[in-house]
Amino acid sequence: MAENKVRKVRCPQCGGESLWSPENPWRPFCSERCKQIDLGCWASDSYRIPVQTQPGEVDGELPDSPES
Ligand SMILES: [Zn+2]
Repeated sequence: MAENKVRKVRCPQCGGESLWSPENPWRPFCSERCKQIDLGCWASDSYRIPVQTQPGEVDGELPDSPES
């Protein structure tokens, strides 16, 4: 029985197989690249601090306003 504590998980970035082991410092990602991509998502414009739109501060340009 080869129980070497290495599990295979799914890489959250590419969906591929990733080794969950101490030898994989990028776990749960499969590689450094996938981890960098994920970190890049957080650091780039695609994930910003959510801007709270004030309820009464909309521009008033609703596409389907009932009265026009
Ligand atoms: Zn990956």
